[in-house]
Amino acid sequence: MKTIIEPFRIKSVEPLHFNTALERSQIIERAFYNPFLIHSEDVIIDLLTDSGTSAMSSKQWAGLMQGDESYACSPSFYHFENTVRRITGMEYIIPTHQGRAAENILFTLLGGKDKTVLSNTLFDTTRANIEFTGARGIDLPCPEGKIPSKPSAFKGNIDLDALQAHIKTIGPEKIPMVIMTVTNNSNGGQPVSMENIRNASLLCKQFQIPFFIDACRFAENCYFIKIREKAYATYSIEEIAREMFSYADGCTMSAKKDAFANIGGFLAMQNPDLAQKCRNLLVITEGFPTYGGLAGRDLEAIAIGLEEVLDEHYLQYRIRSIEYLAQKLMDQNIPIMQPAGGHAVYLDAKAFLPHIPVDQYPGQSLVCALYIEGGIRSVEIGSLMFGTYEVHSTSKVLIPAKLELVRLAIPRRVYTQSHIDYVAEVIIEVWNKRNTLTGYAITEEAPLLRHFTAKLKPI
Ligand SMILES: *Cc1c(COP(=O)(O)O)cnc(C)c1O
Repeated sequence: MKTIIEPFRIKSVEPLHFNTALERSQIIERAFYNPFLIHSEDVIIDLLTDSGTSAMSSKQWAGLMQGDESYACSPSFYHFENTVRRITGMEYIIPTHQGRAAENILFTLLGGKDKTVLSNTLFDTTRANIEFTGARGIDLPCPEGKIPSKPSAFKGNIDLDALQAHIKTIGPEKIPMVIMTVTNNSNGGQPVSMENIRNASLLCKQFQIPFFIDACRFAENCYFIKIREKAYATYSIEEIAREMFSYADGCTMSAKKDAFANIGGFLAMQNPDLAQKCRNLLVITEGFPTYGGLAGRDLEAIAIGLEEVLDEHYLQYRIRSIEYLAQKLMDQNIPIMQPAGGHAVYLDAKAFLPHIPVDQYPGQSLVCALYIEGGIRSVEIGSLMFGTYEVHSTSKVLIPAKLELVRLAIPRRVYTQSHIDYVAEVIIEVWNKRNTLTGYAITEEAPLLRHFTAKLKPI
């Protein structure tokens, strides 16, 4: 049997809300051309993010009922702790309400002026938490990761030569951490190889720099390792995960990704002193160490989700469903990041809309067009998200991001194959009228993470 079927059947459904292109063009105008400001009832297919948008299983919903809401030392915490400990091999497991809360605690303790954090590519909240402490974050993606159109097996890798060179020029004492994002979300959801993780970890050991993993999509990354890295073909996903985490001193996780939960996260590590400091901060910012900003029922849902995500049938379907959409677009020569990532398809907006200059945000133009054409909500991952300014006395000039991408993130277990067929049709329609699309200007923005709240207008 060749067809890879959705490895679940549907027990509970939510209706989609339909609207017309004319209505959508008014809605997006009222939302200041920022998809984050569109009411979700006005969206037909929501590909804004795969974060917290997963469909939970019947087992997870049952787990919600069984969650124990005791303030301290609830059995739901131990279920959670044992599961995370088994998969990661980490000794100290600290629950947080989201991934960024884990990042905030970690970088409050390890960041600060004069410090530099190195990464394959930092996710936006990670970078913001690093910079908020006065530290710098530097991305060192591998060379093939910088060319969207060039397929390669592990484009999420860190550039090991650049890592070594940066450690030597900056000085290891000023580098509190190297953090590897798996899969590499901001660089196309591309996987990182076990070999690259092992070598980066060895380099860090040599210079006594803590090595952490941003583990939001660890299972998707492990599946790519299994199918693309020969030595791991016969390993189970859990075995691959355990080896991957064995190279790290700790990890941060958003349970809103590969744990199929609607909220939650954790921080895990091997160093007892650092763990104690983290817990001290946790108590004043998140909560008591056995719940850390979560309800007992959330801890149950996460523990169950972490078991479910290790299922190879699920991961095969997951990775294939992204590749399926990517293939439909490539068949029309639509420029996308190749190969398909683990959780999203990324349109290359610079190649899609070469007539729109980067300081007019071609990615945002594409995002708006996809919404008006078919009610699809996507997100720009380019100069709106990552651009900064060079400030002169009378003007400021945009320093653009390296890539102008539009991310179509696929929520886990939510949409069926016909939904995805529809998405492909809408993108192809926009592709056919791409020459009519125009650029955008920002009218209002916040100093950090501006893409969430920025207001724009068409030029
Ligand atoms: C989502 C995400 C985070 C932040 O997690 P939240 O739960 O949204 O706070 C950090 N890193 C990566 C790679 C992510 O995808």
